[in-house]
Amino acid sequence: MTFTEPAATPLALLLLGRGADPDSERGVDCPGELPPASDPELVARASAAKATLGDRVFVLGHHYQRDEVIQFADVTGDSFKLARDAAARPQSEYIVFCGVHFMAESADILTAPSQQVVLPDLAAGCSMADMAGYQQVVEAWDVLTDAGVAATTIPITYMNSSAAIKGFTGEHGGAVCTSSNAGRALRWALERGEKVLFLPDQHLGRNTAVLELGIPLDKCVVFDPHRPGGGLTPEQLRDATMILWRGHCSVHGRFSAQNVADVRARIPGVNILVHPECRHEVVLAADLVGSTEFIIKTLDAAEPGSSWAVGTELNLVRRLAAAHPDKRVAFLEKTVCYCSTMNRIDLPHLVHALESLVRGDVVNRISVEPGIATNARLALERMLALAQPVAASD
Ligand code: SF4
Repeated sequence: MTFTEPAATPLALLLLGRGADPDSERGVDCPGELPPASDPELVARASAAKATLGDRVFVLGHHYQRDEVIQFADVTGDSFKLARDAAARPQSEYIVFCGVHFMAESADILTAPSQQVVLPDLAAGCSMADMAGYQQVVEAWDVLTDAGVAATTIPITYMNSSAAIKGFTGEHGGAVCTSSNAGRALRWALERGEKVLFLPDQHLGRNTAVLELGIPLDKCVVFDPHRPGGGLTPEQLRDATMILWRGHCSVHGRFSAQNVADVRARIPGVNILVHPECRHEVVLAADLVGSTEFIIKTLDAAEPGSSWAVGTELNLVRRLAAAHPDKRVAFLEKTVCYCSTMNRIDLPHLVHALESLVRGDVVNRISVEPGIATNARLALERMLALAQPVAASD
């Protein structure tokens, strides 16, 4: 048998943001004979399985999920809203969480013991959450204890952290925060202590401390878990107000101040709107910064004809661009890609999860150990008490 090279396609398949509207991420048409993106039968199978399960299943879709998955979500939202939505559905035996691992854990913690949470692909983790391991944080706390500051430090962890880190935070008098109530959480913590250990996103911690609370940049130090003593001297720890964990989002962390300058040069009058997981210099260069829900509301309220460049996850930016054809909505930087772990949840995995539930087989269940869940719930409940009417994470 001889191998024949397939004929070259006359179409470039990845034309995102090119063609008729070079500054937009609405995409362009791909005319011609192209295969479907995935087996069209999967749509019918997902619909049939969901219809069979009825109210027994509740499907949650995070804003960063693919379109092929989001079409089956009963509700969409950020991680905090989805965890609350799950808790408000006690009649659903199964919660299928189309998002990443830490989100499914939070849903499990906040839902009734009789409800089972399913993550369609167990490999859908979060690189930011993985940057703060439980043992690393325990060892960091020992460093703070040796420096004599642990007793006056309140841990605050971003929603984007493992249940074990949330549990550690609850056990040590701290709270979980979201990207929209991080300022409130820091004020709450600094009423109870002199310092904050902020986990695991250094950028959200720094942006909030400096821009919302007016804490000087030189009072923010970065604790690097891969260096002895976090790479800090006891004096530096004693002098700091914010001890920021050296973690970041691998998507938002890729935007740069140069991207902001480039897009301003390319699109006259553009408004730059970014998520606070972006680096400090990006946030300083942008016009507006806010959580996912803030980004959505800002574009909803924007004037027709206005131009926007948005620095957040691409699936969301593409949907926002499609939802606002009267506005010019561009992605802040074309070389930044989708969140690869979010994108692991695809239609085949969703169909597998739903059809397994129809057979009575609960695959990929996320279940947080009761010992961890008790303290994590404490930290989450402190967050709920702090939450604004519209709270949000990523
Ligand atoms: S976008 Fe960033 S923080 Fe959100 S799930 Fe992906 S890696 Fe984690």
